[in-house]
Amino acid sequence: MKLEIKDIHSYYGNIQALKGISLDLYSGEIVTLIGGNGAGKTTTLMSISGLVPPKKGEILFNNSPINGISPDRIVQKGIIQVPEGRRIFPDFTVQENLDMGSYLRESKSNIQRDLDYIFELFPILKERKSQLGGTLSGGEQQMLAISRALMAKPKVLLLDEPSLGLAPLIIRQIFEIIEKINKENKVTIFLVEQNANLALHIADRGYVMENGYITMEDKASNLLNDEAVKKAYLGIA
Ligand code: ATP
Repeated sequence: MKLEIKDIHSYYGNIQALKGISLDLYSGEIVTLIGGNGAGKTTTLMSISGLVPPKKGEILFNNSPINGISPDRIVQKGIIQVPEGRRIFPDFTVQENLDMGSYLRESKSNIQRDLDYIFELFPILKERKSQLGGTLSGGEQQMLAISRALMAKPKVLLLDEPSLGLAPLIIRQIFEIIEKINKENKVTIFLVEQNANLALHIADRGYVMENGYITMEDKASNLLNDEAVKKAYLGIA
């Protein structure tokens, strides 16, 4: 698996959100994208998943271009986004939300096995499988959003701010599961986070984004020790 983003430029109408972004994801990695509000992190994910197609540049998945193809075909290739704010379907049950995840997958085999695995990862979802999504707590909704993405059989999981608005204990639990999904299933993880400290602790590599540009890239351990990163994103002067 190889996902290469080459010099992409993406817009909302006349507003240019990405001004030439290049980055690569390789099989089995956890890569994080950190940066402040409005830097362009979400737009980078939306550009990969085809929801905000870049006007210029190229995105290659296993050496073939995917920019310009429809979002559902990108999902079928195994590039699955978990959107910010965990947009699950509140009026559908937990089980129905999970079924929707499997609807777009290319291979319909082993759906039950994947469901069993998810219920092992998140036993609370098994307990609540008949409950409406909208009645779950924030942490449980994030677990459901990740699980729904897993039901789509990801090769690459694009996670947008999984820690947003959650209590520290729940965040830690979710980050442990993200690592587990990566290790046990060789799912490549691309993690957008404002919580740079947490993200860099589980990531292999990281990119820093500012104002529509990538300004730094390095091993996560180097970024954690970088003075500029410490000051700007880790709250360490
Ligand atoms: P945050 O962490 O606040 O979500 P971000 O790094 O994910 O920030 P983006 O959401 O990608 O940043 O936004 C990048 C730029 O594009 C910002 O200037 C933002 O105002 C603009 N933008 C984002 N969504 C839209 C939209 N739907 N219409 C117009 N401009 C937008």
